[in-house]
Amino acid sequence: MKKQYLLFIVLAGLLTFFCACKNETAYKTLIITGQNNHNWKASSPVLKQILDETGLFSSEIITTPDKGGDMKAFNPDFSKYKLVVIDYNGDSWSDKTNNAFVEYVRNGGGVVLYHAADNSFPSWKEYNEMSGLGGWGDRNQKDGPYVYYKNNQLVTDTSAGNGGSHGKRREFLVRTRITDHPITRGLPEAWLHGTDELYSQLRGPAKNMQILATAFADSAAGGGTMRDEPMLMAITFGKGRIFHTTMGHADEGGGPSMHCAGFIITLQRGAEWATTGEVTQKVPWDFPSSAGVVLRSDFKELTLEEAITNIGSYDIVKSTKNLSYLQNKIRSLAGDEQGLLKLEKMMVKVLTGKETTIEAKKLLLRELSWMGSDYSVPAIKALESDAELKDEAEFALSRLQTK
Ligand code: ZN
Repeated sequence: MKKQYLLFIVLAGLLTFFCACKNETAYKTLIITGQNNHNWKASSPVLKQILDETGLFSSEIITTPDKGGDMKAFNPDFSKYKLVVIDYNGDSWSDKTNNAFVEYVRNGGGVVLYHAADNSFPSWKEYNEMSGLGGWGDRNQKDGPYVYYKNNQLVTDTSAGNGGSHGKRREFLVRTRITDHPITRGLPEAWLHGTDELYSQLRGPAKNMQILATAFADSAAGGGTMRDEPMLMAITFGKGRIFHTTMGHADEGGGPSMHCAGFIITLQRGAEWATTGEVTQKVPWDFPSSAGVVLRSDFKELTLEEAITNIGSYDIVKSTKNLSYLQNKIRSLAGDEQGLLKLEKMMVKVLTGKETTIEAKKLLLRELSWMGSDYSVPAIKALESDAELKDEAEFALSRLQTK
């Protein structure tokens, strides 16, 4: 009995040791929320999941007192953290807390500002220097210039006017402007983002700020400025680094803006850069292209099976989104015959599936026509008798047989 007890103590001790080690290697991260004109109860757990998913961060969520509450009670010890994520837009913090936060960043603390965090604290000078650009909260020419791209030129515009606007929520193309920054290195030049607000007309001090990516605010979507508006920014303040993403307007469960693989991956990369100045994460293969949005159902990298199944079960619009993922995979397998055959088998399985829509079959036939092998031929031949697919099947067969 005594021996067993001793063994238990030793095992418990070892377990504590390993758990402690695990926590020590991940960057301790504080997500601040509790007030927002947005659904912070939906967004904050998603931010935590996205960051912790990398294995690099170990995050905790802290909530401020409610609106009108005693802010003196909100006094976190920032020095315990490597990264602070702001998902907050509400009452001013106490001077003591503000000063502690400024000190934390000045001394090299990392910060991520997410979506409406750039609406926050319009009269806190240092915070606005950290965000670079902000909106709403009576911001206007007194707060700094508008900054945007127009005809591919970076414009600093001191004209009078309010800061902050967005048109109707929609999918939009994000364009990488600085390709050799650690955050954007290896990302496509342009990629389609899941349905979101396109923040526009932001203005602020814009000091020590690099605009990494922009999006065109088309007036056709209502209220568009016809400018390329900043989406992702990298800012320095003292020894500290700030990653500012204007994207990710949250619905219940996160919604398409937060499920977008482009949002997730840029957030993960931006958070690492803010913490260390470098990015060690590889760009995952489901990063979207300009051909279509990639939505991750559970924020984790899509599996091949998920992507191909999605193509089969959706209508043409949704199939196209997953098609871009499949096309990425086909490209990445160039020269790998075994890998391509495995992929081809999965595609044929969906092609012949009872649930697969006609539009999806057409998409798959087009892909198989150039990447397929003899393996696909019997399945495609069987589709020649289907009036709706006859043309596509014949086309695919003619290409496959002339290979
Ligand atoms: Zn919003």
